[in-house]
Amino acid sequence: MDATTDLTREPDHAVYKTLLESTKAIPWRIDWDTKRFTYIGPQIQDLLGWTPDSWTSVEDWAARMHDEDREYVVNFCVMQSQNGIDHEADYRALTADGGYVWIRDVVHVVRKDNGDVDSLVGFMFDISQRKRDEQELERLRRELEVLSFKDGLTGVANRRMFNMTLDREWASARREARPLSVILLDIDYFKQYNDHFGHLAGDECLKQVAKILQETVSRPRDLVARYGGEEFVLVLPETDAVAAHAVAERVRQAIVDAQMPHARRGDILTVSQGVGTIVPDEPNDVSAFIHDIDRRLYRAKQEGRNRVVG
Ligand code: GH3
Ligand code: MG
Ligand code: MG
Repeated sequence: MDATTDLTREPDHAVYKTLLESTKAIPWRIDWDTKRFTYIGPQIQDLLGWTPDSWTSVEDWAARMHDEDREYVVNFCVMQSQNGIDHEADYRALTADGGYVWIRDVVHVVRKDNGDVDSLVGFMFDISQRKRDEQELERLRRELEVLSFKDGLTGVANRRMFNMTLDREWASARREARPLSVILLDIDYFKQYNDHFGHLAGDECLKQVAKILQETVSRPRDLVARYGGEEFVLVLPETDAVAAHAVAERVRQAIVDAQMPHARRGDILTVSQGVGTIVPDEPNDVSAFIHDIDRRLYRAKQEGRNRVVG
């Protein structure tokens, strides 16, 4: 076969260069000993505005990064490189005109024959469109959650539903001169739970608490809602103080019976509750009522948690 048509022949330097510089991804190389760029594709200038020869060392790379991303990304990349592990990192790169572009840097660690790190080679990808899409999706998800009546995580009613229900039941209790009770519930030491088991386990725990609440309150008009982070609220129409206290105590016991492990060994998850009952009349207002129950919840915490203050 003629040498010029031998497709297995090594492409020459010019072919590599053309290929590298015609892709959208931006290739680069850093010498590990000196921590200096020995190459960066000219495309970098189109993307960020900095000329290729302004990229001299890793300090330039670190300096041209969003303040909030720098520490984590630099530490992570240095650690992975030192350990000879290929890696990738997303961060906001600073543009010459003071803006930011989301970049995914994909890094391959090249080793010498003796195993030491020789250099890093990588590609920077412009992922700003993807980030915008992700952010838009997240925004829509939040918007949908606000528009809906269900809490996205636990499936119980959300704060919006709680507000509407409370207003309705308040008006009804007032019309009928009947008692209305509300229980505010807050998980004890939940920050420690998250810190110990992780946020995902924390989310699972919230789901389980919501499930127990829903199983414990039984009347069709009762409402279980997520009030905020790790706080729930129960609206109990036609329920006097004695009955409401009994519900709160039943909830407290059901959570204890579930024996959910807590961060401290041998400890179980508990909740604190504030309970209030009212027959609404002219001078009363809803927010003062809830505020009062919130103060009782606070007292339940102060007095040692895993208890009901009514
Ligand atoms: P206390 O007994 O006084 O209530 O202590 P606490 O740690 O429960 O109270 P604090 O209000 O300090 O912490 C609440 C924690 O709940 C902090 C927050 O990270 C966590 N949290 C709030 N919302 C969520 C969520 O949706 N998922 C998870 N996993 N954790 C959450
Ligand atoms: Mg709380
Ligand atoms: Mg709490």
